[in-house]
Amino acid sequence: MRMRIENQRQSTNIEDRRGMRGPAAVGGGGIGLVLIVLLISWLTGTNPLALLQLTSGVQRSSPPAESVPTGAVGDDPQARFIGAALGDMEETWSEIFAKAGDRYQPPVLVLFTDAVQSACGTASSATGPFYCPADSKVYLDLSFFRELDQNFGAPGDFAQAYVVAHEVGHHIQNVLGTNAQVSRLQQQAAKAQANDLSVRLELQADCYAGVWGHFAAQQNMLEPGDVDEGLRAAAAIGDDRLQRQTQGRVVPESFTHGTSEQRAYWLRQGLTSGRVEDCDTFKATSR
Ligand SMILES: [Zn+2]
Repeated sequence: MRMRIENQRQSTNIEDRRGMRGPAAVGGGGIGLVLIVLLISWLTGTNPLALLQLTSGVQRSSPPAESVPTGAVGDDPQARFIGAALGDMEETWSEIFAKAGDRYQPPVLVLFTDAVQSACGTASSATGPFYCPADSKVYLDLSFFRELDQNFGAPGDFAQAYVVAHEVGHHIQNVLGTNAQVSRLQQQAAKAQANDLSVRLELQADCYAGVWGHFAAQQNMLEPGDVDEGLRAAAAIGDDRLQRQTQGRVVPESFTHGTSEQRAYWLRQGLTSGRVEDCDTFKATSR
């Protein structure tokens, strides 16, 4: 199934670090621009952040040296699909925040190949897509989608959009302060409890992904079968399934993302309700 997203505005919050090797791959690609901006601001006495925002729509919350999204992903259809999906997520979350009287600062999406340097450390593609709260960026190697298709039986572009929407869900948690609260609780908790809190955080990100999906469906972006694709992907990347595939057994205490059933449940919850308030996985006891 193809999501009807061709006419969607491309996100400009994309940093394309694909194919970069060495320090360039693991450092700010826009460092030259930042140096020029710093020089101009030093000469003219202007706030460098204001200048950076003029030049590239940079995020105020992240450090300037690493936060110059190029905005362009070329003609690569897969990257363009992700750019369009991200653009739509930006609009959806901006509207949700605006309704609550807040301004939404979207995350930057970093596309990379093989390995990448984030403010949370260096990561290889094997880690899978992730969100780093310290620099408010989502990191994605597009090869993950090939794996999702081939090894986990979850093809389709809504499945891909769902993966990005889940990471954007972590950004929402960061903006709302949920993950900071959870980290504080985890420091005093026993290992099993700390794990349970991680699972609830992950399931909430799934529910937030569903909230975006709810509005994508309202705009007629989804086709029959799209939601099933997302649910299949949610189920395919549940910890129980991943563990069975990688270790051949299931160890509930070490779950970090929740079971396949839980993930599909919370994604569906967000899809049906479209309300952030209905994603309180911390209050829910039965799931
Ligand atoms: Zn996650």
